[in-house]
Amino acid sequence: MSCQLPALLPDYDLNDSEAGMKILEELTQNVHQIQQLVLEEIITRNAHTEYLKGFLNGQCDMQGFKNKVPVVNYEDIKPYIERIANGDSSNIISAEPIIELLTSSGTSGGQPKMMPSTAEDLHRKTFFYNLLVPVMNKYVDGLDEGKALYLLFVKPETKTPSGLMARPVLTSYYKSSNFKNRPFDRFNVYTSPDETILCSDSKQSMYCQLLCGLVQRQDVLRVGAVFASAFLRAIKFLEDNWKELCSNIRAGCVSDWITDPSCRNVVSLILSDPNPELADLIEHECSSESWEGIIKKLWPRTKYIEVIVTGSMAQYVSTLEFYSGGLPLVSTMYASSECYFGINLKPLSKPSYVSYSLIPNMAYFEFLPVNKNHEDGIRDVQCNGVCKENCSDHVETVDLVDVKLGQYYELVVTTFTGLYRYRVGDILMVTGFHNKAPQFRFVHRRNVVLSIDTDKTNEEDLLKAVTKAKVIVESLGFLLIEYTSYADTSSIPGHYVIFWELTSKGSNHLPVLDTKLMEQCCSVVEASLDSVYRRCRRKDNSIGPLEIRVVQHGTFDALMDFCVSQGSSVNQYKTPRCIKSGEAINILDSRVVGRFFSQNAPPWEPV
Ligand code: AMP
Repeated sequence: MSCQLPALLPDYDLNDSEAGMKILEELTQNVHQIQQLVLEEIITRNAHTEYLKGFLNGQCDMQGFKNKVPVVNYEDIKPYIERIANGDSSNIISAEPIIELLTSSGTSGGQPKMMPSTAEDLHRKTFFYNLLVPVMNKYVDGLDEGKALYLLFVKPETKTPSGLMARPVLTSYYKSSNFKNRPFDRFNVYTSPDETILCSDSKQSMYCQLLCGLVQRQDVLRVGAVFASAFLRAIKFLEDNWKELCSNIRAGCVSDWITDPSCRNVVSLILSDPNPELADLIEHECSSESWEGIIKKLWPRTKYIEVIVTGSMAQYVSTLEFYSGGLPLVSTMYASSECYFGINLKPLSKPSYVSYSLIPNMAYFEFLPVNKNHEDGIRDVQCNGVCKENCSDHVETVDLVDVKLGQYYELVVTTFTGLYRYRVGDILMVTGFHNKAPQFRFVHRRNVVLSIDTDKTNEEDLLKAVTKAKVIVESLGFLLIEYTSYADTSSIPGHYVIFWELTSKGSNHLPVLDTKLMEQCCSVVEASLDSVYRRCRRKDNSIGPLEIRVVQHGTFDALMDFCVSQGSSVNQYKTPRCIKSGEAINILDSRVVGRFFSQNAPPWEPV
């Protein structure tokens, strides 16, 4: 039996919401059949790639797939990706030509991971985006009677030695004709002209998008960004720039520093006439002492805020609620550079109840069971974070239709773009089913301890960075006894805080610390973190200066006492390298004797 792609990406009338919902019903009813077709299609197409030939001997062997093809981590496939980046033919992993590499926010050796992408995959993503529309229309009426203020941005891109484009998945999508020619004439109307989204200067882009959003405030029915962190950054930008934005609206012309020609042209058209009444109104709202509910005040017709608030973004929910004035927070989708995974079929559910239904025609999905006490389980299946040769060969995976309610799993994908049984690194929990399609809550990313924006810092990264920095204080006769960290998001942008307990060699007394040296320690930690952190910090300004808080002697003993009082076993106690509990943070904070901030953003170059 062979299958043609049109069956896997069915056509329907995009302006017919019912037809869209019907497709979703079919996809979620026929999960087993579709998953089999997807696997068959992928194997049939790619059996002769060097990668699959190595395991399947050129056979279209569906039965043998799980026995013979290993479950892999990025490190296992990195040599193939690097060969393609350096000019080898892409058919070493994919029969379809790989047209670009998508730089993921996950890193390997400090550099972004690169995921293969094909021309056809753009259509798969478009199919996925189109499915979001009938879902939203089902729950919110009248979305076609106005516009969406979406703050969308492109990020820097580079070329690999062979000339392939390397860039983040959303940058690739926004620059594609699929985005430009997006369907739903009445639904997908954005206040941001494409020129402002595609402007590579993020400050000009932000300014112009906010300006256009303010001028068209009466049309706005929904606001949003991809991640909560980006949306809050926009609010902060508005706090810093509303006076200038108002003066542009009052005068009917855009500030001189907007020099990107296409941005300037398109914004000038929208601004066209002086509008002192609107400027007064915005000034009145923005000069209010509290910005509580500012979104509703500035954009009074807004029905919801569309931002991802699951996973590491959950830390922003309360801040968003403060600014939103009680609007629903909608996380529509779960996706990655590897593949787009799932859709939230109940978009108005509260952030902590959000689940995603994996869409079975996107990829072939498998699941590595993770113990109920999932942290331990993750360590078990992970071989302590390093997948030794063959270590995952023997791990039994479960199919999409066989996952069990309440169980934790790590997601493994086989994509149409050359990834085979690839561990995404996300831990998910099954919360229910829509038809036959399981729904998953995003639990957390394997290993990650700190995250503010798209950065993902794990324990090893943190240890490496701290080890480099502590050399500075050790040379002065101090010892770093203990450290831990947390992501402080009480201000925008958030920043990493590292608590250090220091002592002088041979005594418990801590002499006065030299500010310059401690600031240098902060900078060394930042410079040692991976390139996604450094890009967010230096280029996107989405992470603030890293802070070291030095705590008094005995603080980490107090932390241990607290953890033990909360149920940790004394025998197995290990200092947590990242603290989430507010009470634990208070224990540390109440013993702080010095606070130091990095004075320089770390160097960053596009890879
Ligand atoms: P990237 O490959 O850089 O696009 O990052 C993809 C990763 O972001 C996923 O593997 C998840 O860890 C995280 N992510 C994406 N969408 C969501 C979501 N809706 N909720 C929580 N985490 C998400």
